[in-house]
Amino acid sequence: MTKVKLILKGLHDNHYKEDGSYLIDPLTSSVTLIQTEKNNILVDTGTPNFKEKILENLAKEGLKAENIDYLILTHNHLDHCFNAHLFPRALIYTQIAFWHWQDANCHIFPKGISSDVVPGITLLHTPGHSKDSLSVFVKDAKEKKWLIAGDAVSLHYLENGSLRNRVGEEGVRSIRKILDLNPDYIVPGHGEVFTKTEIDKLREFVR
Ligand SMILES: [Zn+2]
Repeated sequence: MTKVKLILKGLHDNHYKEDGSYLIDPLTSSVTLIQTEKNNILVDTGTPNFKEKILENLAKEGLKAENIDYLILTHNHLDHCFNAHLFPRALIYTQIAFWHWQDANCHIFPKGISSDVVPGITLLHTPGHSKDSLSVFVKDAKEKKWLIAGDAVSLHYLENGSLRNRVGEEGVRSIRKILDLNPDYIVPGHGEVFTKTEIDKLREFVR
């Protein structure tokens, strides 16, 4: 009975300042819990400011940090992987060992191939936003298909003309790969979960 639940919505509010710099506040990745009969899996871990909120929301699901068996890091940008240290038992799946995971088990999955974390949970290489980007595909108990995309998919990519500038042709190919799986839901790294309307719009953009 696989269950997928958004534990934290990803946030990424840009504030452009007069001196040409910009501030991102609030900033965190989305954090998604996948529960299978045997395992608790967390996809991405958010930023330090949201640590308490993440643990609180896991507690509402009856889970403590030590109950998380696997962490999947969609990529090694700090807004996605910073809180990995909170989960002492978790085996980590990622594509690049960005830093030395001291005392951690880290499964670095070879580039360019699909791989199952546990049966029914598949990793896809979806580069574009970053070289190491991966996405997670899973079907829930109601047969709904979820694609947890990290920053391979973003609401900002739906702004006119911005998609190719932001992710290049490689990123467009990754989005096509994601859409080929016909997901019912896409969890982007930041922002609301995509449902049919946004998914159809995304499909238009990568045609
Ligand atoms: Zn991000």
